[in-house]
Amino acid sequence: MRRTMLEPDHWGDPEKQRSSVFTPAMANHKIGPVKLLILQGTPFCNINCRYCYLPDRGNKGQMAVETVTATIDNLLASDLVKGPLLINWHAGEPLVLPAEFYRARMPLFDRLESAGIPITHSLQTNAMLVSDSHCEMFKEFGVKVGVSIDGPAEIHDAQRQMRNGRGSHKQALDGIARLQEHGIQFNAICVLSDLSVRHPDKIYSFFKQLGVRAVGFNIEEIEGINTHSSITSPGFDERYRQFLERLWELVEADRGLIRIREFDDAEGRILDTHPRRNSQTEPFVNLTVAFNGDFSTFSPELLGNRSTEHSDFVLGNVHTSHLRDTLRTDKFQRISEEIEQGVTACRSQCAYFEVCGGGNPSNKIAENDSFATTETSNCRNRIKTTCEVVMTRIEDRMRRIGNAGTVEDSIQHIR
Ligand code: SF4
Repeated sequence: MRRTMLEPDHWGDPEKQRSSVFTPAMANHKIGPVKLLILQGTPFCNINCRYCYLPDRGNKGQMAVETVTATIDNLLASDLVKGPLLINWHAGEPLVLPAEFYRARMPLFDRLESAGIPITHSLQTNAMLVSDSHCEMFKEFGVKVGVSIDGPAEIHDAQRQMRNGRGSHKQALDGIARLQEHGIQFNAICVLSDLSVRHPDKIYSFFKQLGVRAVGFNIEEIEGINTHSSITSPGFDERYRQFLERLWELVEADRGLIRIREFDDAEGRILDTHPRRNSQTEPFVNLTVAFNGDFSTFSPELLGNRSTEHSDFVLGNVHTSHLRDTLRTDKFQRISEEIEQGVTACRSQCAYFEVCGGGNPSNKIAENDSFATTETSNCRNRIKTTCEVVMTRIEDRMRRIGNAGTVEDSIQHIR
């Protein structure tokens, strides 16, 4: 699962969770609390995007009610969930499942609410299968909706295609129209390929005309079964930088009409004076549960993927394992310690560590075949280039307003 608009990638809470039950090697690890629960209602997807990393998207299995119940039982027994919990139905196309699927499962989370844990449901969809009954269900359960759409048809259809090779743009727009008829607000996620970064104006105008007011840009990744990416084309990094610079100008000209997640994130990272916490390098901040009950942690993309060293990243099954017991297993400790080695290497070698926190383990394993590594093409663009562009533009803006204010004043100036 690539980033949604809502996942707790960045927060300023300096709380430090430690556990007394771990081996000496684990003593410095913070464990949870779980803030993001990704539930794979089904691995199946109705389309076949060129850059998809999901290995199992032809599998029509569905998460049984009993698996949801076992997940909730396990969370309550583990004491690993303490505060607000965001549930994201993802890792497959969630709307191939009817509204009744969710109506039978979402009320089960009332047990967590009763235990003082506020729940928010969200899902990330390609929008093609949005029905009136889905829209009613979204309103009934307050589901936050994210739509994956890659800009205008000529860009979107080159990337997001059906199994017969035809583009999916028209059906995505039909689904968006249905959401809008029902008054359902949604954010958009746009995946940037080497084609997209050549067209910032077209992409920005598309979202503006569509009425979208918050967009996140995920860079196409080398991840999972997507072992070849257009971002390896010569010159991509510079084109990505130019894309961001032009996007900043467009956003500034519209006085921030559209919120760009990457700019907001980078501003937050630059301004945050707390040491950065990284939800993907700390165990059990993210918990991913597959349709059959298998679970994993750290980067959501690890579930269902493999590496030379670790085989797979499944740590247990909610029907047969206790979340906390898996912390003592050799498998968990090998993965965790290798991730920690990568974070330590990042801390000692990278000037961006304070705003990054050591990157995404899933990108490290996919690009470098080891967690115990540092730079990836993903962090080079998503973290380093984005922060450089944002910092440069903040400094420009400060010069324009006469160096009279602080960096915070400069950021507010646009809003
Ligand atoms: S930007 Fe890359 S190299 Fe630097 S800390 Fe993050 S993951 Fe490590």
